[in-house]
Amino acid sequence: MTNVTKTFLPPQEEYQAILKGAWDAGWITNRGVLVKELEASLKVRLGVDQILATTNGTLPMQIAIKALGLSGEIITTPFSYVATTSCIVWEGCSPVFVDIHPEFLTIDETKIEAAITPKTSAILATHVFGNPCAVEAIEAIAQKHNLKVIYDAAHCFGVTYKGQSVFNYGDVSSCSFHATKLFHTGEGGALFTKSEALYERLFFYHNFGCEGPEKFQGLGINAKMSELQAAMGLAVLPYMDQILKSRQEICSIYDQAFANSTVAVLKIRENTEWNCCYYPIILASETQLLGVISKLNEAEIYPRRYFYPSLEDLPYVNSNKCPITRDIASRVICLPLYDSLALSKVQEITEIIKKEL
Ligand SMILES: *Cc1c(COP(=O)(O)O)cnc(C)c1O
Repeated sequence: MTNVTKTFLPPQEEYQAILKGAWDAGWITNRGVLVKELEASLKVRLGVDQILATTNGTLPMQIAIKALGLSGEIITTPFSYVATTSCIVWEGCSPVFVDIHPEFLTIDETKIEAAITPKTSAILATHVFGNPCAVEAIEAIAQKHNLKVIYDAAHCFGVTYKGQSVFNYGDVSSCSFHATKLFHTGEGGALFTKSEALYERLFFYHNFGCEGPEKFQGLGINAKMSELQAAMGLAVLPYMDQILKSRQEICSIYDQAFANSTVAVLKIRENTEWNCCYYPIILASETQLLGVISKLNEAEIYPRRYFYPSLEDLPYVNSNKCPITRDIASRVICLPLYDSLALSKVQEITEIIKKEL
């Protein structure tokens, strides 16, 4: 059986050897040695000034909404994982959807200004499939209208734009280290900000607002990463170059197979070093997509409809219409992509798909 992804698991003895550090210290959470070591390693690897490891990739967005004091309306897109919209609603704000660019699949920056009202406080956009949003244009709009910018950068481990980490853009970025993501800690994530003052606020928010054992600076929640999660990250990290290389090989087979075909592949923004985190293809119609899925399933190959349905259809949002998202969501699937996927299987996948076009 071939699924859309398969979690990379490091040799168990390597995970255990790292866990020994936690055992020796008798300390398994509350920012022990392993969380600090993971943060230090990621800081260097990713080229960021500040990182805060968290227990998942959703809480950082909620904490960011709180720490930036957002209220009213937040501009976002319906082409993302549900967490992007649900965190806005969870924090008592209203999502206002702006449609996506049909090839980059990120928020269409030319449509943002029309969605701004006196109630708008921020833009929360997803770098979908690791493809950066039009970060400069978004920054200019945000400055002009005095808005904050949060990026759902869940997919962006290792992505650079114009030579620097994509996490360096916006007021806050959030990455996910969930087991299905490119780099993982089982469950986990991290937040990034360039502002030291904001980092400090986010830090308090992620740890109950604690300022020492008997003092609470203000409101907070628990978004701490544990030592057990950090140990997994430290065990996976040395394999990331190898993982990326295998994924690049697979992506280039897919690229070649779909060049000069009716299948559209993700258009990566220029000046981007992409991380091969997902391989979405856009078929000609939903009927064709269902045919492709059914033929792949017959061969025990299970792609996923990322992202479907459009978040406009969530029962708890009042949706504005985003026809491009609706159209793309009905025709897009992510093909299997993971380091140990056999190249012969990749060939087989492309052949099955091409027969159905
Ligand atoms: C995975 C994902 C999240 C949520 O991350 P968790 O670590 O599972 O909380 C948020 N946004 C997007 C776009 C994702 O793919």
